[in-house]
Amino acid sequence: MTELDATSKPLSLTYAGVDRAAHHRLDEAWLAAAWSHPTTRVFVVSGGQVLVEDTADGGAELVMTPAFDAPETEQHRYFLGIDAEGVRYFALQKDTLPGRMDEPARPAGLREVGGLLSPLEAGLMVHAVALENWQRMHRFCSRCGERTVIAAAGHIRRCPACGAEHYPRTDPAVIMLVTDDEDRALLGRQVHWPEGRFSTLAGFVEPGESIEQSVRREVFEEAGVIVGDVSYVASQPWPFPSSLMLGFMAQATSSEIQVDGEEIHEARWFSREDLRAAFESGEVLPPYGISIAARLIELWYGKPLPKQGTAAVVR
Ligand SMILES: [Zn+2]
Repeated sequence: MTELDATSKPLSLTYAGVDRAAHHRLDEAWLAAAWSHPTTRVFVVSGGQVLVEDTADGGAELVMTPAFDAPETEQHRYFLGIDAEGVRYFALQKDTLPGRMDEPARPAGLREVGGLLSPLEAGLMVHAVALENWQRMHRFCSRCGERTVIAAAGHIRRCPACGAEHYPRTDPAVIMLVTDDEDRALLGRQVHWPEGRFSTLAGFVEPGESIEQSVRREVFEEAGVIVGDVSYVASQPWPFPSSLMLGFMAQATSSEIQVDGEEIHEARWFSREDLRAAFESGEVLPPYGISIAARLIELWYGKPLPKQGTAAVVR
């Protein structure tokens, strides 16, 4: 569970109920036995998408099969872990998703279904999608340029030429809700976002920088606002393609806004009353979905944000 309790639900994509059992990743005999075990469940991941089926209650579930039904490409199988009942889970990376014309299955990405799946299945999917993104973009050795091969059930790439081992990378990014001394929140609109879409500021941590420094630099660069105290709230894996979003509350010590015009087109201070009125009039669209951005705003707002349809999705 995270500290984000404004709506008493855990943050999407952060469920930790599957034991990753990393000590099995190099044990080929164990992996082979796990793969062929009748209770093992396998799903295919391809280009960040999986097959899902809609459920009667408006949710979705992963289309999973026993391993003996799964296509034979064991080189690209990722071992994801074991649940409390002892079920082992694998993802299989394929160039395309298998056809399931006989059943009501459809392809879906994490942004679309991350909030519709059970926490366990969302956790499995975020792990699989993150591995697939990394595998796809790190096929060559960054030390010598040779083609690398997959190892450790998807969690390592090895270089046969120079012996280097490459591990999945995660890029830290900061995302912060800035408030001023009147407890107003600073929300910005990115250049490519539609009119009315406002959210928290965010950016990547740079080399040689602490995350607190990164929060202050990003807010100043994007909105011209000076930040003093910074307090950590929660984190969220965000494999688009490989970020880890580190969520903060940040206290401004200045209030004048000067947007950079490159990343942020417009930024405004909102009181809770301002924001409520802007939601009601339609002037501001509620942030969508599973992102920690919505939860940071909720934490300050003090209650759940209005629901919105499945329109444009922002982080
Ligand atoms: Zn190499």
